[in-house]
Amino acid sequence: MLVSTIELLTRARRGKDLGINGAENLRLDWRAVIERKDRIVASWSKGKEAAPEKLGTAVLRGKGVFAGPHEIAVDGRTYSAEKIIIATGSRPARPPLPGAEIGITSDELIHLKEQPHRLVVVGGGFIGLEFGFALAWAGSKVTILQSGPQVAPALDDEIREILLNAAGEAGMTIVTNVKVKAIAADKTVEAEAGGAAQKFPADQVLLATGRPSNVEALRPQVAGVELDRSAVRVNEYLQSVSASHVYAVGDAAGKHQHSPVAWYEGPIAAQNALKGNDRKVDFTIFPSAIFTIPAVGQVGLTEKEALTRGLKAKVSRMPFDYNPAAGVRNETEGMVKVVYEEGTERILGVHVIGARAEDLVQIGAAAMRGGLKKSEVGAMHYVFPTLGGAIFDAMAA
Ligand SMILES: Cc1cc2nc3c(=O)[nH]c(=O)nc-3n(C[C@H](O)[C@H](O)[C@H](O)COP(=O)(O)OP(=O)(O)OC[C@H]3O[C@@H](n4cnc5c(N)ncnc54)[C@H](O)[C@@H]3O)c2cc1C
Repeated sequence: MLVSTIELLTRARRGKDLGINGAENLRLDWRAVIERKDRIVASWSKGKEAAPEKLGTAVLRGKGVFAGPHEIAVDGRTYSAEKIIIATGSRPARPPLPGAEIGITSDELIHLKEQPHRLVVVGGGFIGLEFGFALAWAGSKVTILQSGPQVAPALDDEIREILLNAAGEAGMTIVTNVKVKAIAADKTVEAEAGGAAQKFPADQVLLATGRPSNVEALRPQVAGVELDRSAVRVNEYLQSVSASHVYAVGDAAGKHQHSPVAWYEGPIAAQNALKGNDRKVDFTIFPSAIFTIPAVGQVGLTEKEALTRGLKAKVSRMPFDYNPAAGVRNETEGMVKVVYEEGTERILGVHVIGARAEDLVQIGAAAMRGGLKKSEVGAMHYVFPTLGGAIFDAMAA
C-alpha cells in the first residue's frame, strides 16, 4: 500500500512531461498514508478473523505451545488432536549486533508517525529494497548496506543492473560487501566496507536481514518436530519428516515466504492431514515480484542459472521503450527478458522490470504452465497498446 501510493506519487510528479502543471511539486503526507494503511488493514483483518467461525471452526485466541506430541496448551488449557498443522508465520530477524535494539524492523517502519529524513537499511533483500525504493522516491535519503556482493542475488544479472540504475535515479546509495559492526545510540551505523571502517549516520535504521519462522517458540521438540534452520522440515506433502502427525504451511514451512504460498499450502496440508497424503506441493513454476519502483517480476530460471544447469539457453529481450503503452504512460524504463532453450523453444524463464512487472510476469508463468513454446506465445493476438504487449513482443523477438 505504501509502495503503491509512492509509485503513484512518483509517476504523477513526472506529469509535467504529459502537460500536467504543478505535478513536480507534489509531496507525500506520510502520516495520512500510514493512517489509511491502518484503516484498510484493520478492515481486512476483521473479515478474516470472523471467517473460520462462520464455517463452524472453533477459534481459540491465545499463544499455543506443544504440551505433548499431540497436545497444544493455550493459556493454561490443553487441547489434544490426532493431527496438527503449524501455520505460525515468521517474524523479522534482529541480528546479534551491539545496538540492534536501536534499529527498527519492517513491522515498526510501517507504523512510524514521521517519515525518516535519513534511512539506513541493513540488508539488500526484497524487503530492504522495497522499503528503500519507496522511501527514497518519497524524499528520504536512503542507504542500503548489503553483506554480500549483490543486492537481490536471486535476480537475473541484467535485470539487477537496470534496478541499480533506477536506485541511482531515486537517489539511493547501495553499498555491498559491508560488515555491519554496531548501531550507535545516535543511530549511526558503524560498519566495515571497502577494507575501512565507515559510519553511516541515520534517523532510522531498518533491519531487513530476513524473517525466521516462528516455530521455535512452540517448543516443537516436545512433539519431535525437526527444524530446518527455523522452519519445520517437511516433505512434499507438507508433513514433518520427523513427526508424521504434524504438518506445516506458509512461512512456518519456510520454502517460499509469500502470501499465496500460505494460501496454496493450507488446503493441501489440511487434505493430507485428514485424508492421508495425496497432494504434493508443486513449485516448478513459481512467479514472484519485488515491489520496488520500478517493480521486478520473475518466473523460472535466470540466464545464468540455465547456463549453469548446462541448458542450451538463449535469450530474447524487449525494452520498454519499444512498447507504445509504456511510451504513452511515460514509463519507458524497463525490459522483458525471456530465457528459452535453443531448438525446443521451451520457455525457461521470464524476467520483467518496469511498470506493472508484477502483473506482466504472470503471462509468462501461465505460458510456462501451459507448456507453450516461445514462438507460440509470440504469435498470439494481444490487446494494443498494453504493457503486456511487451511480453508477446519479447516472445516474438
Ligand atoms: C514487509 C513485508 C512485505 C511482504 N510483502 C509481500 C508481498 O508483497 N507479497 C507476498 O506474497 N508476500 C509478502 N510478504 C510475505 C507474507 O506476508 C508472508 O509470506 C505470509 O504472511 C505468510 O503467511 P503465513 O500464514 O505463513 O503466516 P502469517 O500471515 O504471519 O500468520 C501467522 C499467524 O500465526 C500467529 N501465531 C504465531 N505464533 C503463534 C502461536 N504460538 N500461537 C498462536 N498463533 C501464533 C501469528 O500471530 C499470525 O497471526 C511480506 C512480508 C513482509 C514482512
